[in-house]
This record gives sequence, C-alpha cells and structure tokens, in this order.
Amino acid sequence: MVLVLDTTPTDGTGTPQGNGAAQTAKPSLAGLSRVRLAEALGAIGVPEKQRRMRVNQLWSWIYVRGVTSFDDMSDVSKDLRARLAATYSLDRPEIVSEQVSVDGTRKWLLRLPKRGHEVNAPEIETVYIPESDRGTLCISSQVGCTLTCTFCHTGTQRLVRNLEPEEIVGQILLARDRIGDWPGSTPPGDGRLLPDTDRKITNIVLMGMGEPLYNLDNVKDAMEIAADGDGLSVSRRRITLSTSGVVPEIGRWGEEAGTMLAISLHAVRDDLRDILVPINKRYPIAELLEACRNYPGLSNARRITFEYVMLKGVNDSIADAKALVRLLAGIPAKINLIPFNPWPGTDYACSDWETIEAFADVVNRAGYASPVRTPRGRDILAACGQLKSESARLRASERKPSGEAHPTDGPGEA
Ligand code: SF4
Repeated sequence: MVLVLDTTPTDGTGTPQGNGAAQTAKPSLAGLSRVRLAEALGAIGVPEKQRRMRVNQLWSWIYVRGVTSFDDMSDVSKDLRARLAATYSLDRPEIVSEQVSVDGTRKWLLRLPKRGHEVNAPEIETVYIPESDRGTLCISSQVGCTLTCTFCHTGTQRLVRNLEPEEIVGQILLARDRIGDWPGSTPPGDGRLLPDTDRKITNIVLMGMGEPLYNLDNVKDAMEIAADGDGLSVSRRRITLSTSGVVPEIGRWGEEAGTMLAISLHAVRDDLRDILVPINKRYPIAELLEACRNYPGLSNARRITFEYVMLKGVNDSIADAKALVRLLAGIPAKINLIPFNPWPGTDYACSDWETIEAFADVVNRAGYASPVRTPRGRDILAACGQLKSESARLRASERKPSGEAHPTDGPGEA
C-alpha cells in the first residue's frame, strides 16, 4: 500500500510553506558553504568586516533551525532581512512527488532549478529509511549516471549533470523539513515509523542516483557542510559514500573527506562483475580490493561495507558465497546482502528466500553478523531511479496520442 501525501510542505507547525524552486526565481542560500554565503552577502553590499558575523548568523538559522523565511531570522536587522529577501530565497528543491511506504520509508522525486542552458529542470531522488534506532537518508550525487550497471535502474538514465554542493545539501534540508527534524518542529501526522532518536536523520548514505566519486569535489564540499559541528552536525562516521569502484579516487576520498566507505561489489569474479558493474573492466576486483585495503583509517571500528545484490541464478550460489568470504579475508568488512528489487523491464529476478538464507549462512559462519538487509519501501518503488523513470514515462505518455505504447524504462536498479 502506498500513502501519497499532500506535497505542500509545512514548517513543522502545520503552516504551509513555499516549496522552493518553482515558486521563486531567486537564487537560494540554502545549501551554500560559508564562503559562498559571504560572497552572497558581499553582492548585496554587506561590508567585508561584517560578513563573518553575518555568515555565522545565517549559518545557524539555515543549518541549525532550518528556517525557510528571512523574516524568522530575529537577530538579523530588519533592513538586512529585507535586502536578503529582495535578492535571495531559502528554497529547497521542489517536490514532484512524495511517497510513504507502509514501513515508513519515504521517497521524494525532486526537481531542481534549471541551470545554464538546461531545457528541462533536472529531477533526482532522495529516500529516507527509518529504523527504531536510526534514520538513514539516501541522497543523490548526480542527475542520472554515466555508468551502466545492468541491475540498476538509474543506469538506464543518461547522465544529465553533476549536482552542485548546494543541491546535494538541499536534499538533507528538504528531508528534515518533511519529517519535522528541526528543533521545535513536529513530525508528519501520518503515523508512520520514525526512529526513537533525538535527531530523525542520524545517517547519510551517498547511494542514490549517480557515482559520487565522479563528482568528488562537489560531494566533498557538500559533506563538509553536512558534517559542520555548528550546523547540520552529522558525524563523518555516520556518512557513507558508496562507489561502484572508481579506484583512483577511493584513497583521495578517504584522505580528504574521511567518511565511511561502501563498495557495490555484487560479484566475486571479474567476468561476471564486468557485466553487472561494467566499470570493473577498467578497475578489476583485485585493484578495487587493494584500494580498499589501503583506505585511510580502515580498522575493525571503521569497516568497509560490501554491497551484494542477490540475483537469482546469477551470483547467488554457495560457491559464490564461499568465494566472497575468501575474497574479503583480511579486510575489516561488513557484508550487506540485498534482495533484488525488480523494476519493469529488468532481465533479473530476486534470488529465492531459501537461496538467500543459505548464502547468508555461509557469510554468517565466516563472522559477518546480520548480512541480509531487509527490503524497504518495496511498495513505493524505493529502488533508486525508479520514481524518476516513472515520472519521465508519464510525461512522455502525456505527449503521445492515446493508444500509442509507453516507452519502456529499460533495465536497472541498485
Ligand atoms: S549502481 Fe550506481 S554507479 Fe551503477 S548505474 Fe546505478 S547509480 Fe550508476
């Protein structure tokens, strides 16, 4: 069952708020770094000697309180608030659709403001996955993806562009708005599961649309903002970057960003991984695992997560399970077995439950606890790329005369 919500955001007190990009054409300050905020202040005539203090004020209002109106910035002079509002907004990405699963998983299809010569406003997806003791936000780093992992729905969507840092941070702000995760705000009234924690978003995973290491600088800048202790304050140990295996950038990410790391492994042999995760042809498994062994800060307390999607008859044999355990020997690792979430047009099917259990048993006996990830949000197409394809399909069908077939979505899902 799917609960499709009214997409008019509230400020947590039930007061409807504007939802960003579609409603104003003014550039948004929400998601900007301190340097960019200082530049924005300079552009409206704030003297240089005041900028640092003003940036600190804006920072706190934007990233600690989550305000969406300059009027709420009570310690900023009325005159400056008026000048800010005349030129800028605090818009978040526009919500195209919001779906809430029976298990509390929330998925947003978001539209970003057009940049440069873009004809269409790009769309991305963000997913929130609550558990009793944590809330994980899965965010996108690119619009579409250049890679073509054959089991991944996003892999069927061509890359439109890299996301800017503020567009990555904007996903966090939007999610906090929608689940009432600002001081004094109230959670949504739909009664769906939220974690029993002070903060409702405790973890961030860069596992949505796109390959984050192909947008390393912008993703790094965004995570600087997310981890800033005077703002959003998400610990780097609770931020995980997931890569398909861009080997040359893995070490740099570890050194410069210092977050946790996940690898989309999905196969234990190069011939199969070449098909499932084609970047493997450039950076085969042995090179990938060598980069993992050298990941800065790797220890038993800071393990790498290896993601392994369970594909029926493809990668799910007992021999595969044993090979997986052998392959990862000596690397402080967690293993996530992910039951495949099929999407329309895919050639793959999810492994049978008994097969998953037998595979998990081998992994378990090798000392990896709870390796099977519970499927979440299956009723709302929570696999990455699915909402966007559905949206594109609907728009295409609107343009076609009735009776003409819908374009297919092609293969894919991560
Ligand atoms: S799994 Fe990740 S890297 Fe591969 S196609 Fe999908 S979004 Fe791109």
